[in-house]
Amino acid sequence: MAPFKALVIDRTEAGQTVGFREFNEADLMDGDVTVRVSHSTLNYKDGLALTGKAPVVRRFPMIPGVDLVGTVETSSNPDFKPGDAVILNGWGLGETHLGAYAEKVRVKGDWLIPLPSGLAPRQAMAIGTAGYTAMLCLMALEKHGLKPERGPAIVTGAVGGVGSVAVALLARAGWHVIASTGRPEEADYLNGLGAAEILDRSELTVPVRPLGKERWAAGVDTVGSVPLANVLSMTKYSGAIAACGLAAGMDLPATVAPFILRNVALLGVDSVMAPKALRLEAWNRLAHELDHDKLAAMTSTIPLDEVMEAGRRIVAGQIKGRVVVEIA
Ligand code: NDP
Repeated sequence: MAPFKALVIDRTEAGQTVGFREFNEADLMDGDVTVRVSHSTLNYKDGLALTGKAPVVRRFPMIPGVDLVGTVETSSNPDFKPGDAVILNGWGLGETHLGAYAEKVRVKGDWLIPLPSGLAPRQAMAIGTAGYTAMLCLMALEKHGLKPERGPAIVTGAVGGVGSVAVALLARAGWHVIASTGRPEEADYLNGLGAAEILDRSELTVPVRPLGKERWAAGVDTVGSVPLANVLSMTKYSGAIAACGLAAGMDLPATVAPFILRNVALLGVDSVMAPKALRLEAWNRLAHELDHDKLAAMTSTIPLDEVMEAGRRIVAGQIKGRVVVEIA
């Protein structure tokens, strides 16, 4: 079988190396489905893996890339046959299992979900883990019983990938969206996605008080740390915040005051190990509830050759919206 091109992270005594290599199918890891990858994407986690800034990669050599869309080539899994269009998000892809920045992957069929009708492969990767996580956050808020009538919803890191999709989804669902950003010059972009108000990030980096003025009933937090602690302290009575990210830090210097005095809830959201039923629901909703024009407005496309540089930029907070990576 012909070798194929892959981006490979290796670890040497001098540190981490990243480069292109010819890879053979025989070198792929165990799995019952082989997929020819057409597109991947760039998430914050991919940036951490590519730069080695955090220990995302758990095995070396590793092909990074946590998301893919492609076509099944061979399958011994009864749910998939050659020619099926499939998506994979997470499950350790690009961390413990050889990932998506390659022309081929071999994976467990249980990790795959069919590409929903109504979405082109490129659009599926414009959504990617970031967009699918934004939908999981919206679903968590809804499951908690929150409705737009209760008050505004805040999104932190709004110009980023999860943030951009969260703004669009919450606005479409009828929420008055307050978009928090460190890039106020992107106000037009955020308003175009559906944000009703822009909140400068600096308003959420002030010293944390146990309770602040009640400003929002719901929220999607992609940054953690001091901004999340401030978001909690300003959440209305019986409101909830879905927390999925750590772009500002992994710590949470909060008090219990919002929880015990305002009945506020902090809803944790993980996309990597989310069960299949939840994934299918999220992707089905994304296919129907994410405006295609807004998705296009937040998406740029790069060839695989440029992913290393883009990885540096995403960890520096310089990427706007979503980035599709063309593989083949
Ligand atoms: P992006 O880099 O696209 O977005 C992150 C945004 O956070 C930036 O665009 C910026 O937004 C803001 N930001 C960056 N640095 C800081 C800082 N120091 N202080 C405050 N805000 C900052 O990343 P993604 O959207 O791909 O991911 C966002 C977060 O969500 C990441 O932490 C990622 O690991 C996490 N994540 C978690 C998942 C899960 O399963 N739980 C799945 C997917 C992502 P702005 O310029 O608007 O301020």
